[in-house]
Amino acid sequence: MEKRVIKKDALAGIVQKLAEDTLVYAPVQEEDQVLFKALKQGMAPLIDFANAKNAPKNFFFPQTETMLKFFRSERGRELSEVVEGSPEAILFGVRPCDARSFVLLDAVFNDPTYKDPYYIERREKTTIVSLGCVNPPYTTCFCTSVGGHPLSSEGADVMLTEMEEGYLAEFLTEKGEKLLARLGDLSAADQGLDEKKKEISAAAEGKIKSHIPGKEIKPWLDENFEHPFWDTIHKSCLACGTCTYLCPTCHCFDITDEVKGDGGQRIRSWDSCMSWLFTMETSGHNPRPSQKERWRQRLMHKFRYFVDRYGAIACVGCGRCVMYCPVNIDIRKIVTDISKQ
Ligand code: SF4
Ligand code: SF4
Repeated sequence: MEKRVIKKDALAGIVQKLAEDTLVYAPVQEEDQVLFKALKQGMAPLIDFANAKNAPKNFFFPQTETMLKFFRSERGRELSEVVEGSPEAILFGVRPCDARSFVLLDAVFNDPTYKDPYYIERREKTTIVSLGCVNPPYTTCFCTSVGGHPLSSEGADVMLTEMEEGYLAEFLTEKGEKLLARLGDLSAADQGLDEKKKEISAAAEGKIKSHIPGKEIKPWLDENFEHPFWDTIHKSCLACGTCTYLCPTCHCFDITDEVKGDGGQRIRSWDSCMSWLFTMETSGHNPRPSQKERWRQRLMHKFRYFVDRYGAIACVGCGRCVMYCPVNIDIRKIVTDISKQ
């Protein structure tokens, strides 16, 4: 694995330069929010930031996209699949929890038996540059409780770790090495920096303040689908869906056909298991008739069903749902309360 050191005051400029001829998504300040956006010419990315409000999943799984178009011709009804060629892109400044979310989304969208060409096209063309959390940014971060780490490189093509000497840049994959070739002369990283990284890594782990028994609750979930515990956790939920839309691992979608005249298009849009309409059947029957069943589904999907299917918890501990739920429902508390049942 190639390793280099990037001077601290040079990093923003390097990313800005890459954006001159490549699509670069990076965290930028917009009013009082940090958001991942495509860098426009001359725009500098944020280097010193906590995390973006929006999870970067939308670059691979957009809020809405056209899957196919249909029209009537002399030959009858015709379909044309739309898998738009996407450009090579760089996604810069991804925190390790969000980079890990791509590995979980890959399991869903790039499953051996079901391959999603829309997602795969964008994912394969994008190089992920991850920025380690030397100082985990929020008291709500709990990545270490769900299989992650503030300096995890899982899901990253290039891993940047801030040190006194600059950013230690580790080029982990073929895509990462291709990017290295575009960066020009950078100082080589000496062996001593590996040792320093180990120390920084242990210190960063120690700075995580939130811990939940994320891996311990599955046996209880397996046995207690009908437990009275589920009767109250949802009581204040407004079903706004914020927790699911901001979540880096939530990936539910709806498919609708929009028809105009003799043609139309099939559109895929984000959906949310928090919504009553999500499971509403044409007959009028709804198998998840109240918010109780919907909240149970959210918890069960992340901490039970996904573990059964893919061997990992479908939560990366980013804390977004905790920070932005308008009624302060806290998934950490729910998991902890389950562990006490
Ligand atoms: S963000 Fe809070 S109120 Fe909104 S759906 Fe999620 S749990 Fe319910
Ligand atoms: S469930 Fe909440 S803490 Fe976990 S990954 Fe989703 S938004 Fe982040």
